[in-house]
Amino acid sequence: MIVMRGFQPIAKQRAWSVWAGIFCLLAVASLPTACAAPAPPIIAGSVPAAPVSAPISAPDASAMDNASEQAEVVAISTALSRPASPLRTEETPAAVVQVMLPMILHQPETQAALSGTVSITVSLPLTFAANNEAGQSPLALPTPTLQAPVTAAPVLPEPTPAPTPDGAVRTVRVPVFMYHYLSVPPADANAYRQDLSVPPDLFAAQLDALQAAGYTTISLYDLHAYLTQGAPLPDNPVVITFDDGYRDNYENALPALTQRGMTATFFVVTDFLDEDRPEYLTWDMARTMRDAGMNIESHGRNHVSLKDKDTDYLVWQALGSKETLAYELGVAPRFVSYPAGEFDALTKEIFQSAGYWAGFTTVQGATHSSADDPFEMRRVRVRGTTTPEEIVRLAGLDW
Ligand SMILES: [Zn+2]
Repeated sequence: MIVMRGFQPIAKQRAWSVWAGIFCLLAVASLPTACAAPAPPIIAGSVPAAPVSAPISAPDASAMDNASEQAEVVAISTALSRPASPLRTEETPAAVVQVMLPMILHQPETQAALSGTVSITVSLPLTFAANNEAGQSPLALPTPTLQAPVTAAPVLPEPTPAPTPDGAVRTVRVPVFMYHYLSVPPADANAYRQDLSVPPDLFAAQLDALQAAGYTTISLYDLHAYLTQGAPLPDNPVVITFDDGYRDNYENALPALTQRGMTATFFVVTDFLDEDRPEYLTWDMARTMRDAGMNIESHGRNHVSLKDKDTDYLVWQALGSKETLAYELGVAPRFVSYPAGEFDALTKEIFQSAGYWAGFTTVQGATHSSADDPFEMRRVRVRGTTTPEEIVRLAGLDW
């Protein structure tokens, strides 16, 4: 080991020397003739290896009473360029190695010498394992934490291609009724809430009256397919829509509709569902409604007006609500109901570019034409005061 000094560059030489010293220590523990002859007596015994957690004994030079040991320590000392820690004869070889090496490695000058030989910290426990005679655990190293496999992004459903308009001009009268709350308003509800609320009993009576008058519910997809391609419609078609996605739509409107074999479209505010707002639907409710044949469409992300907004904001509203609906329900929405009925030319342009087929306003009217702007569809408002007779009258109104 000392001879090596004459042939190695300084930096490499120091590392080599340390390596040689360590190797010698390990070899002392397992192979008597590797570093020094004759074999040091400390390895002659067959004492079981001490547990790794054995208390570390302080170096004790007075324990050195063997010439071979002295020679070995001198060799190690020369390699490390400092006084070596003496070996203790009363300890087993395995214990000696386990105790000695950390002491050596923690010397500042040894740390410097070991720069660039980081792998030693990994190889040491392997050596210990090999020397472990009693099946005890080697020194523990931190277990590498495997990162969870990267999961693929969810695959959104393939969008249904927009029906290619055949160019024919069609005009049809299909009232698209607009509801909001489907519950008895609280006693202290303001006039706005009172007007937007239809009690469940009244709703059921309205549906019965419409059916009795020969009306059939269709979806917005049916209406769109008729306008663009002439897909047939049943006699006296009507569309029922709900804005905002209130929870009472699930609790009260859904059973009333399904009991009668009727369908409706629910324009939901996607952030409100994401936030688990108690007054609004949950995504589980929305999925149940979808499974019952209802359509869940976009009312934007947060019910902020879509009028007088810039492109980035509108893209955030249009694509954000669309992707959320597609992710949660597996169906990309194709229709938007503008919050508060507010929109402008850029609103329509952005929603169309985001893959929507039509936009619904609060402008009153029941007549639709393929020649009209599909992003300015009209609806018929239903109020808390709309009697069954009144809704039948509205359904037949030519407007
Ligand atoms: Zn709304």
